[in-house]
Amino acid sequence: MPRYQAPLAEIRFILSDLLQVEQLAALPGYQDATPDLLFPVIAAGARLCEDVLFPLNQSGDAEGCRLEDGRVFTPAGFPAAYRAYAGGGWSGLACAPEDGGMGLPELVYFVMEEMVSSANLAFGIYPGLSRGVYNAVRRHGSEPLKRLVLPRLADGSWAGTMCLTEPQAGTDLGLVRTRAEPDEHGTYRITGTKIFISAGDHDLTANILHLVLARLPGAPAHSRGISLFLVPKRLVVDDRGTLGAANAVSCGGIEHKMGIRGSSTCVLNFDGATGWLVGQAHKGLPAMFTMMNAARLAVGLQGLGLAEVATQNALAYARERLQGRALKGARDPEQPADPLIVHPDIRRMLLTMKAYNEGGRALAYWIGFHIDLEARHSDPKVREAAGELVALMIPILKALLTDLGFDVTNLALQIYGGHGYIRDNGIEQYVRDARITQIYEGANGIQALDLVGRKLPQATGRLLRHFCHPLAAELEEFRRDGADPALAALAAPLAKAFGRLQHATVTIAFRGLVDPDQAAAAATDYLRLFGLVALGALWLRMARVAQEKLLAGSEDPLYRGKLDTARFFMAKLLPQTGALFAAIQAGGDVVMAPDDAAF
Ligand SMILES: Cc1cc2nc3c(=O)[nH]c(=O)nc-3n(C[C@H](O)[C@H](O)[C@H](O)COP(=O)(O)OP(=O)(O)OC[C@H]3O[C@@H](n4cnc5c(N)ncnc54)[C@H](O)[C@@H]3O)c2cc1C
Repeated sequence: MPRYQAPLAEIRFILSDLLQVEQLAALPGYQDATPDLLFPVIAAGARLCEDVLFPLNQSGDAEGCRLEDGRVFTPAGFPAAYRAYAGGGWSGLACAPEDGGMGLPELVYFVMEEMVSSANLAFGIYPGLSRGVYNAVRRHGSEPLKRLVLPRLADGSWAGTMCLTEPQAGTDLGLVRTRAEPDEHGTYRITGTKIFISAGDHDLTANILHLVLARLPGAPAHSRGISLFLVPKRLVVDDRGTLGAANAVSCGGIEHKMGIRGSSTCVLNFDGATGWLVGQAHKGLPAMFTMMNAARLAVGLQGLGLAEVATQNALAYARERLQGRALKGARDPEQPADPLIVHPDIRRMLLTMKAYNEGGRALAYWIGFHIDLEARHSDPKVREAAGELVALMIPILKALLTDLGFDVTNLALQIYGGHGYIRDNGIEQYVRDARITQIYEGANGIQALDLVGRKLPQATGRLLRHFCHPLAAELEEFRRDGADPALAALAAPLAKAFGRLQHATVTIAFRGLVDPDQAAAAATDYLRLFGLVALGALWLRMARVAQEKLLAGSEDPLYRGKLDTARFFMAKLLPQTGALFAAIQAGGDVVMAPDDAAF
C-alpha cells in the first residue's frame, strides 16, 4: 500500500525561509494572512489530504466512474469526501470574503493544490475546475451573475467545468462549432457537442456550471468569433439560487482512460440549453484564458504533487528493500543483503527526484507569491512587473513540472522494479495519472510555442527581463571577492547555463523573424533549457538561505540536505542545458527539410 505524508517541513522552508511569506500580510486585503494563520490552515489541509482523500485514491482508480441512466456516479467515498472538503471551507480557500470565501493568498491555494494532487488527483479535479469557473466569472461575469454563482462556487454547493474541446477542435479552438442563438429572455440557446469534459457530470453537487465556448450568429471566422457562456446543468428559478428543471444538457458518455479514473471525462450534448453570455460577444477566448492560465498553473502543481507522493514511496522502498551488497563491502552484515539505497544508480534516481521536486516546488510557490503581488500590491509598477513575470512563467511551469512529474513517477516505478509494475503497490497508478497532465490544458508542445511565439516577443521582450535582470545581478554577487566559496561554486555552473539561455534566446528571436518554423522547431528544447535555468536559480537561492542558517548555528538536517541537493542539481542535472543549447543552435532545417513522405 502506498503512503503519503504532506511535506510540511519542506513547505515551511519555502514559505518562511525562502519567500518570507510574512510579507504577504503587508499587502492590502491580506492583513490576516500572517504565518500564525497560514501554517495551521496548511496543516489542517494536510490532514484532510492524508486522512480523507488519500485513502480513496487507489479504490477510486480501481472503481472508476460509471454512467447510469444519463447520470454519472463517482467512485465510492468521493461524495462523502467532497462533503468533508466543501464543509471544511476548502472550496473557498482563496475566494473573496464577500463571496463567503476565506480570502487567503493564492500561494496558500497553491500549497493545497499540490497536497490534494499528491493525495488524490482524480478527486482534486472536481473542486479545481470550480475554482477556475469562480475566477473567470468573477473577472468577466455581469453583477447579477456574480451574485448568483460566486457564493455557491465558494461554498462548494455548485461545481464548474470548462467546455472547450469538440471532436474537430482540440488544440485549435478556432474550429469550435457549438452555436449560441439569442432568445427572447436575453439569454442564449446553446447547441453542440463537447468532448473530454472533466467533471462534466457527477454526483458531488446539486448543480454544475459549464463554461462553454460557442459561436453567435454571424460571428467572425476562427478564434475572433468565439464567445463564452455559462450554462447550468439545472436551471435556476430565482436570484436565491433555487433550482428548477434540468437544462437541455446531457451526458452522452464517459471515457475509459489510462489514468485519473476517478475523474469523470464526459461527452456533453447541448440541445438548445439556456446559457448566459460571460464577458463581451466574440471575446470568449481571452475571457476563457483567465480560467486556462490558472488551470495551467494548477496542472503544473498536479505534476509536482504526483512526483512528490511517488518519491516518498520510492524512498521508503529503497530504505526497506534488501537486494545486493554495497560495492565497497556490506553496509549491514547482519542482514542477508543491503538496502537498495546503498547502490549508486538508486541514489542517482532518488537525488534526481528530490532535486526536481524541491526545485519545482520552490519555482511554483515563487510564482504563486508573484500572483499575490500582482493581485494586491499597492504599487502599480510592482503589480505590473509581477504579472508579466507570471505570464512568462506559466507555460514553463505547466510543461516543465508535468514533464518532470511523469519522469519522476517513472523513476519511482523503476526503483520498485517489477513490484512497481504490479497494481497493488500503487506506483503504476502515479505514472498513469501523470501522463494526462502533459496533454490537457494545452499539450506541452503548445506551451513551448506559447513561450517562444507569444511570451518572448511580448512588449519587445520586457517579460523576459523580469526573470533575467534579477538573476544576472544575483550571479554577479557571487563573482565578487569575499563571496561564500560554497555558494560561488554553485553559482558558476548556473552562470554558464544562464549564458546559454541568453544566447539561445537571441538565436531564436533572430531566426524566428526570418522563418517561424526555425523558432517553433526549437521551442520544446528552449522551454526545457529555460526551465532548468529557472530551477537552478531557485536552487541557488535555497542553498543561500540554507547556508545562512547553518552558519548561524542551525543543526537542522533539512538545511544540510538543501546544500547537498543543490550541488547534485548543478553538477548532474543542469549540464543538460549544454545539449539543449547545441540542439537549439543546430537550427530547424534538419526538422523541416525531410519530405513528409520520408517519415
Ligand atoms: C482526461 C482528459 C480530460 C480533459 N479535460 C478537458 C476539459 O475539462 N475541458 C476541455 O475542454 N477539454 C478537456 N480535455 C481535452 C484536452 O485539453 C485536449 O485533448 C488537448 O487540448 C489536445 O487536443 P486534442 O486531443 O484534440 O489533440 P490535437 O489538437 O489533435 O493535437 C494532437 C497533438 O498535436 C500537437 N499539435 C496540435 N497542434 C499543433 C501545432 N499547431 N503545433 C505543434 N503541435 C501541435 C498537440 O500538442 C498534440 O500533441 C481533456 C482531455 C483528456 C484526455
